[in-house]
Amino acid sequence: MLLLLLFGLLVHHLHNMVKVVRWAREPLGTHVPRALGIWDYIFANLSRRTRVAMEQREQLARSLARFREASQAMPDAVIYLSQHQTIEWLNTAAASYFGLDAERDLGRAITTLIREPDFVRFMKETEEARSVEPLILHSQRQDRLSLSIQRVPFGEDLEMILARDITQLERLDMMRRDFVANVSHELKTPLTVVNGFVETLLDAGDDIAPEDRQHFLSLALEQSMRMQHLIEDLLTLSSLQAGSEPAEEIPVNVQALLGSVLHEIQMLSGGRHQIRLEAGAPACLLGSQKELHSAFSNLASNAVRYTPEGGSILLRWHEKEDGGAEFSVEDSGIGIGPEHIGRLTERFYRVDRGRSRETGGTGLGLAIVKHVLTRHQAHLDIRSTPGKGSCFTASFAPKRIVPHAQS
Ligand code: ADP
Repeated sequence: MLLLLLFGLLVHHLHNMVKVVRWAREPLGTHVPRALGIWDYIFANLSRRTRVAMEQREQLARSLARFREASQAMPDAVIYLSQHQTIEWLNTAAASYFGLDAERDLGRAITTLIREPDFVRFMKETEEARSVEPLILHSQRQDRLSLSIQRVPFGEDLEMILARDITQLERLDMMRRDFVANVSHELKTPLTVVNGFVETLLDAGDDIAPEDRQHFLSLALEQSMRMQHLIEDLLTLSSLQAGSEPAEEIPVNVQALLGSVLHEIQMLSGGRHQIRLEAGAPACLLGSQKELHSAFSNLASNAVRYTPEGGSILLRWHEKEDGGAEFSVEDSGIGIGPEHIGRLTERFYRVDRGRSRETGGTGLGLAIVKHVLTRHQAHLDIRSTPGKGSCFTASFAPKRIVPHAQS
């Protein structure tokens, strides 16, 4: 009887052991079998442990997925490297900056894929010898792409490559340097002239004829006024760039504005040109009186300055069918070649440096016009034929035009 009992017990244990072995071969997460006695307790424990392990695994997978999603969403390029500098993972930005494939290139050494000599040298630097400065790489693969690349070690012998697109920053930096060089150059010329006259006057002492003295002083005054114009234009430009909206939004009386611009250019022309104004129906333009005056007057005075004596100039305000309006300045002047038209609103861009200077130009007029118009959501259209004349048109949207009766 006892033997029979022992045999039964043995069969029970063997049966449950077989169940455990079978269950262990199944994938993680398979239900733990049910049993009686001590085996029920063992199976319940196993079941609890596997549940905890499964939960931890899922949590880890979720964290990893979130971490990858975050790295993927980063605007910068991210590449994870193993201790042998082979690629473990990379995001889309990295694939596009370096021309890598997020699947095919996994497991391959990074320096066999990105072979630019500066990059290979950078990747060979040991941690001790490595500079803290990022590597600036001008990509040979993608035209005009500049990258700032950093190596960030983490964990045990692992590292991350971070790369940022600095093309735009470099361009802005170059523009800033060009701008400073241009301003210095523009100021240097008149300053040299003024210095020369003052030195001559000092050296000559009383041995100079009063009319010569007068002549030198008036030339020096002309140059210092040129510098003053330049500074005024620079200040106008910088105040325009500081904000994107006009300084004020008031209904500006267009007829009065055009009248004052007309008067100014008549003075500038001194009767050398035939100047006409076609002002259309009375209207008001919503915006800044000061800025609009500066833009209109720059366009009109350019017409005088670039039109030889005897030429004609037409200032025109014209309301369009859609409710918008245009201000145009047409001249019969020297005109502009098509290759220059797209660059005229750049700061200090001039077709003929000599002529611009002779007529007191700073090279900033059209840059000011463009900024004022942008702030008023208007745009500038330039049509010109060399030797025949030019037409500059500023177009304003309907929302900027207020009929006179309402103003
Ligand atoms: P500037 O002070 O030199 O006149 P602007 O920015 O006002 O500077 O104009 C840029 C350049 O555009 C000028 O140097 C000139 O070459 C050209 N330009 C502007 N307006 C006219 C025009 N009405 N006719 C011919 N050329 C013009």
